Order: sequence, then structure tokens, then C-alpha cells
Amino acid sequence: IAEPIVLSFEHLYATLPEPLWVATQATPVAHPELIEFNAPLAHELGAKEIPDATTLAEWFSGNQPMSGAKSGALGYAGHQFGNFVPQLGDGRALLLGEVIDQQGIRRDVQLKGSGRTPFSRGGDGRSPLGPVLREYLVSEFMAAMGIPTTRALVAVTSGERVVRQMAEPGAVFTRVASSHIRVGTFQFAATRRDEALLKALADHVIERHYPEAANAEDPYLALLEAVVARQAVLIARWMSVGFIHGVMNTDNCSIAGETIDYGPCAFMEQFDPQKVFSSIDEGRRYAFANQPAIAQWNLARFAETLLPLMNEEGEALVAQATDAIRHFEPLFDAEQRRLHADKLGLAADSDQAVPLMDALESQMHQGRMDMTATFDALTQYAASTSDEHREGLLSLTTQPNELTAWLDTWRAAQMASQDSQRFAAMRSANPVIIPRNHRVQEAIDAAYDGDFAPFHTLLEVVTQPFDDSVEARRLAAPATDSEQVLRTFC
Ligand code: AMP
Ligand code: MG
Ligand code: MG
Repeated sequence: IAEPIVLSFEHLYATLPEPLWVATQATPVAHPELIEFNAPLAHELGAKEIPDATTLAEWFSGNQPMSGAKSGALGYAGHQFGNFVPQLGDGRALLLGEVIDQQGIRRDVQLKGSGRTPFSRGGDGRSPLGPVLREYLVSEFMAAMGIPTTRALVAVTSGERVVRQMAEPGAVFTRVASSHIRVGTFQFAATRRDEALLKALADHVIERHYPEAANAEDPYLALLEAVVARQAVLIARWMSVGFIHGVMNTDNCSIAGETIDYGPCAFMEQFDPQKVFSSIDEGRRYAFANQPAIAQWNLARFAETLLPLMNEEGEALVAQATDAIRHFEPLFDAEQRRLHADKLGLAADSDQAVPLMDALESQMHQGRMDMTATFDALTQYAASTSDEHREGLLSLTTQPNELTAWLDTWRAAQMASQDSQRFAAMRSANPVIIPRNHRVQEAIDAAYDGDFAPFHTLLEVVTQPFDDSVEARRLAAPATDSEQVLRTFC
């Protein structure tokens, strides 16, 4: 019997030399069961017929090979919390291959939690259910917000237990990325001191992600500049929704400029620039407000790997690369200014956006205001100007007098530049709902008790983040003191 072809795989990355891609098989799991399958994404990837849940579970657990897939683990290195580790690699992930999507874009399909690989070191190659559900929810929310990200295609339970702090149910996650090439992939090639390998990788990335760089006077400098630009935009967008990645190691920094490797990530609730959730970030290296500087630091590590390929020599080479990295700052500022203007309902070129946002951030911090609720309330007030919505906003702060003064200044600036398009931009910059930490945890806890309904409900509302339904409002409410999740784990 011919099995249905869901994804038509190609294997371009697998043509790169061995340490970058190492053929590896998945280790079957005891009893795979489908949790969720992202049919719209599958259609984007060219799937025509979707098989039944049992077949999906067999394929996307790694138990049955999919037709045309050729699985391999990818080698990479990375700075973890500032310390260089020359060999990390896919210790629990396998690239099945690439699929050309409906727009002609090559995208990776990867299993995560599919068993040990040559890069597993001491690890078991598995993933607990909790992080799989968190990545599913958060990455699909980010996609719905238009923030560059890897996507969730499938989640299955494995029917096995994995032992972390305690024994937990296991799961396998299938994700889709523009690619899984990281700053750490370049560091891996560079530390091997094999310039041919490094050049093969860089040329692959240029052809795949930055074809315009091929025509530049120095393609590798152009590659650096292009990656800097994508990362600057990405980090500004993260921060516009209060996203804290939590583990911005160079091995979690995507060359394609997508959010990748969701671990102990979380969203800011009460506004605090120094906020950290991750239990492993003891030095607070990856605090909310540090994210642009850390991205820039990661890009400097990327630049170092490219130096041998660039045309210039000596001091001129270093000066040129330094300039490219410094360019992160104006690019980040420009994107952030645009996002601030949208969040505040101001014209993109308004010179009020930055001072008004600085002042509102200090109001949110000092008045202990929830970031998402604040911008949602401001959006509702901008639309209605009703007393009810004004009171709703003022009820969010412990310092209503100070916020009233800010509101008057904002109102004057906003009236001067009001039109219906601007309001639409304001709404789409300010979600009604984010995947709040306590709601994600609630969905995970229920799933551990065998009930996936809260996960399915939460997924539905966070993937329509501007919908104002009763269910969305219920799940959008900030955590009460007793509901608050203070620490996240990967
Ligand atoms: P992460 O913290 O998920 O970004 O992973 C950092 C490194 O540890 C990567 O090389 C992973 O492949 C590896 N790793 C994490 N968890 C496991 C595991 N359970 N088994 C094997 N390798 C793992
Ligand atoms: Mg990682
Ligand atoms: Mg040279």
C-alpha cells in the first residue's frame, strides 16, 4: 500500500561535510500518541492529504520513518552563559530534511526528544512533556504576533517517562525553522580551523538566507551585516511584547533571525527591566533589558568566525567588523521607535513616541503595572475615550495621579495624529492575550494529569491574540499573587 506523502523532503544541509551533519536514526518510543497537529502549517509546507492520528504519531515520534526523510544530527558549538563549549550539537534533536513551502522557501523539519545522538554527551536524548507544550504555545503565539520564530508542527506523547527533577511524561516535538543554523554552528566550524568547512557553511547560508549578499563586494561582510539587521529587528519585537528568552547562548542565536530554542522563556507581567524568570540564569545575564546587548555580544562572536573569509586584512578588517556590529544599535533603535509609535497609537515619525514610552515604562515600573494589561487598556481607551476605559486603565496602577498626568500628555500627542489606520496598527501591536506563565503552567499541570483540554483551549486563544472573546479575557487576566509563577525551568 502506498503511504500518503505529507512532506516532500530535500536534503541540502546534509550535503555539507560530516561534522556539520551526522546521519542518525531516531530511537523508537513505547507508545506514541498525538497531542496536536498544526494542519494550517502542514498545508503551508505543501501537505495535501493528512493521515490519521495514529500514523501521525508513528511518524512524528520517529517510530516509523517518513517517506523521503533522511535524519541527521547537526554539530554546533556555543558560548553558554559566556563560557565557550567547543562541541554541543543536537543531543536530542534530528533534522528530517527540508521542505520547500508554498512560497518557495526552504524550511527545516526537526524532531526534538527523539533519542540519543552522537552529540548527546551525558543526556538521554529525550524531552519532558512540559517544555514541549510550552514551546508549542509560545512559538505559535509569537507567529500569530508576526514575530520571527520557529513553528510548532506536531506534538506527541511518548508513553515513556523521562527523569529530570522527578519522573515526568515524555514527548516528541516537531518544529519547523527557516534553518537550524546558529552562531554556534559557525563557531563549531571555526574552531576546527578548517577554512573550507567554514566557507562551505557560509556559502550555504548566503545561498539559502541572504542571496543578495552574494553580489556584494565582500559577501561575508554583507552576510554579517544582514544577520545583524535581522537580529536587531527580532530583539526589538521580543521586547515589544515583554518576551524574555532566558537562554540567549550563542547556540540559541539563529542565523536566520528567528526566535529559536524556547527553554525557560517567559513573558514579563509587572513591568521591570531587570526581570529574570529562568532558574538557571543566576547571574541575571539574560534579564529583559540586557537582551539587545547580549544579542550584540553574540553577533560579535559570529563576526569573529567570519574574519578569515573576509577580504580586508589586519586593523582594517577588525574596524570593518566592529562597525558592522555597532550598526546593531541604530537598527534596533529604529525598529523599537516604530514599535513604540504603534503601541502608543502615534504616527511612525512622531518625535513623542520615545519620550512618552520612556515615561510610561517608568509609570509601569513604579506603579507595578502589568505590561500587557496596560497596553490593552490603553488601546481600548484610545478607541472609545470613555470614562469607563480611562478608569480601567487607572485601576492598573498603584500611582493613579502620576498616570493621569501621563495620560493627558499622551492624549494630546495621540489626538494630533489619529486616524483609523493608526488605531488598527495600535491594536495589532498590543495583544489582548499573551501565554501567561501561570496559564502555561496550568495547561502543563493538567496534561500531566492526562487532561489536554486546557492546553487546547489556551492554544486556540493565544493564536488569535487580538480576539476579544470571553474565554480570551478569562485567560488573559494577570496572575493573582498566589497564582504567580516566579521561576521557569527548561
Ligand atoms: P538547550 O539547553 O536545549 O539549548 O541545549 C543545550 C545543549 O544540551 C544542546 O547541545 C542540546 O542538544 C543538549 N541537550 C539538552 N538536553 C539534552 C538531553 N536530554 N539529551 C541530550 N542532549 C541534551
Ligand atoms: Mg539550544
Ligand atoms: Mg581574508
